[in-house]
Amino acid sequence: MRITRALRFGIGALALAVVATGCGSGSDKTATQHAAEGSLTIGIKFDQPGLGLRDRNGNYSGFDVDVARYVAGKLGVPPEKITFKEAPSAQRETLIQNGQVDYIVASYSINDQRKKKVDFAGPYFVAGQSLLVRADNNDITGPDSLRGGKKLCSVKGSTPAQNIQKNFAGDVQLQEYDTYSLCVEALKSGAVDAVTTDNIILAGYAAQSPGQLKVVGQPFTTENYGIGLQKGDTESRNMINDAIEAMIQDGSWKAALEQNFGNTDFTIPAPPQVDRY
Ligand code: GLU
Repeated sequence: MRITRALRFGIGALALAVVATGCGSGSDKTATQHAAEGSLTIGIKFDQPGLGLRDRNGNYSGFDVDVARYVAGKLGVPPEKITFKEAPSAQRETLIQNGQVDYIVASYSINDQRKKKVDFAGPYFVAGQSLLVRADNNDITGPDSLRGGKKLCSVKGSTPAQNIQKNFAGDVQLQEYDTYSLCVEALKSGAVDAVTTDNIILAGYAAQSPGQLKVVGQPFTTENYGIGLQKGDTESRNMINDAIEAMIQDGSWKAALEQNFGNTDFTIPAPPQVDRY
């Protein structure tokens, strides 16, 4: 009898603890609730020059960083109240679901599979899958020239890697790393023949190694970049969509792209229309 009661108490206490911590390490509050309290945690890439980059002094730069800061500003949060957190491709849904970030701006394509777990504001940019090769390579000119067992690098949990698995399986040797910067190292060392992901990401790496790397062929998918946030948080989603529209309207969107890609071969496309789904 005594044991049963103690056991019951124990189980009750455990259940309470689980409820109190939300069973994850993050927070249950929404992006707009955190913004109202004065600060935000935003997921970005740390290793994608021109998009999301953390330098050795801990400074952040890139178009995604500019979008993240602009949106935060519209939610009332100044840059110094933002904590940036690295959001590798394969971890993005989990970071959002666990409440470890308020939103993610990290070359994050909107798709139906991801929409089962998270919501997206945007799109705020349209990219397309492309190929990066060494400057002296002349036999890879587009996706079909990869057939015949070329070694290709992409990133785990990314849409370009999924596309290769689906449409080039058996014809291409795909290696999946955790980040694109690791793929670029493998390309430079000769361990792989090409890197595949979105054209804007590859343009950033090519610009960083002039004369060494080049982007080839035409983009062969459509990647609509969204800002990922908690599923069902319509209030934050609407406010972030308003912010994206304002950034496009007031010229900051184009200015940010020109600042980050103006000195590269990348052609800045027209802005997309926000999707109020
Ligand atoms: N846009 C693609 C994706 O969301 C590739 C870029 C990335 O992995 O961040 O998967």
